[in-house]
Amino acid sequence: MPDGASKLALLGGPKAVTRPERDMFTWPIVTKEDEQAVLKVLRERIMSGIEETKAFEREYAAWQGVKHALGFSTGTASLHAAMFGCKVGVGDEIICPSLTFWASCLQAFSLGATIVFAEVDPLTLCLDPNDIEKRITPRTKAIMVVHYCGYPADMDPIMAIARKHNIKVIEDVSHVHGALYKGRRTGAIGDVAGYSMMSGKSLAIGEAGMLTTNDTEIFERALAFGHYERYKAEDILTEALKPFAGLPLGGYKYRMHQMSAAVGRVQLKYYDARMAEIQKAMNLFWDLLEGVPGIQAHRPPKDSGSTMGGWYAARGLYQPEALEGLSLARFAEAVRAEGAICQPGCNTPLHTHPLLNTCDVYGHGKPTRLANADRDLRQGPGSLPVTERVVGRVYGIPWFKHYRPNYIRQQANAYKKVARHYRELLPGDTAKSAEGISYHLSQWSR
Ligand SMILES: *Cc1c(COP(=O)(O)O)cnc(C)c1O
Repeated sequence: MPDGASKLALLGGPKAVTRPERDMFTWPIVTKEDEQAVLKVLRERIMSGIEETKAFEREYAAWQGVKHALGFSTGTASLHAAMFGCKVGVGDEIICPSLTFWASCLQAFSLGATIVFAEVDPLTLCLDPNDIEKRITPRTKAIMVVHYCGYPADMDPIMAIARKHNIKVIEDVSHVHGALYKGRRTGAIGDVAGYSMMSGKSLAIGEAGMLTTNDTEIFERALAFGHYERYKAEDILTEALKPFAGLPLGGYKYRMHQMSAAVGRVQLKYYDARMAEIQKAMNLFWDLLEGVPGIQAHRPPKDSGSTMGGWYAARGLYQPEALEGLSLARFAEAVRAEGAICQPGCNTPLHTHPLLNTCDVYGHGKPTRLANADRDLRQGPGSLPVTERVVGRVYGIPWFKHYRPNYIRQQANAYKKVARHYRELLPGDTAKSAEGISYHLSQWSR
């Protein structure tokens, strides 16, 4: 079928995607080797041990090119410990994008700290470096950088701002394992990084997280926070931590389940090759759609040295202006009718939720956001216009796990066809605009 030649499927024409290929999206890839690794842990009854996890940490640190890696039960836990590692405490503020999963920041509340949201850049969907500095106060302790949906955030200006104001940078690498920012590894640029490895992520090993850092004090604080059995005075260099060894400072038990560690060791071995295939497939999809009106790739420029890692929850950007205001909902409906994948939305911005505005979680007698704050720093609906606008302009695209050009071409043709025939969709377009889908991104992983 020539691109866009025939009638839209939504209006009774033939579909652009003629054959389903479900295993294009199956993730993670599980082989006998993963199964054997799990069985070994089970048979040796070392599910709660630490040796397998320590081996995984060594391999992860080497792969990531950092000094320390510390395994966690979840990505949420790794970021909690990263905050504690950076001495985020009572009355402190962290700057974070509102467009992210809640586990980038909500842990701050349990440390007595609070959250200040900054805008994202509408093209990268990551923190806008130009919106950070005006939000810094003497209480700002850290910037939480989220590399959102595969896109490496613009780290150079962010690091410059952080160094100028003497604040830490924590990278949330949950969406970009292995991605490069100008040739450097995401997660190895800031002071410390946390990574989710739950089953929906691009490095998917079960329920697990990882923390990496080159800073030994941050590493030891993170260890002291939630790894009681590894927190030993004789193993710790940080003097201030020595007297309290033996009990976890956070009161948390955060070690990784060793079945996940075992799967992680296998998955990591093959990750670079699998990631390379994903990159080839996803880049082909966007290359095919280059210049099509109304749709734009969410990926760094080709000559930037930056990459999208495993393209977690890959998104596209929508420009209704180019299609006479056709709503994203209507556009996506037509693409789906072609047999292709197009899911409007992304995370609902956190600042709009009552937990960030009214909820008194711990009984301070005031909203937790303000529990130890020196001013009313709440940011209600309308306070982050770029972020609020951008969520209505993004959509999930097919997250290909294999390089199969014919099938990828069919998916791209569906988008092209709808963009070419968009006028036919205007009369039936009743949707005003799309919204964030929910506070968590759901993925089709099977
Ligand atoms: C998934 C995710 C986390 C939390 O990880 P878990 O392993 O689910 O606890 C943190 N930040 C972001 C951006 C995420 O997408």
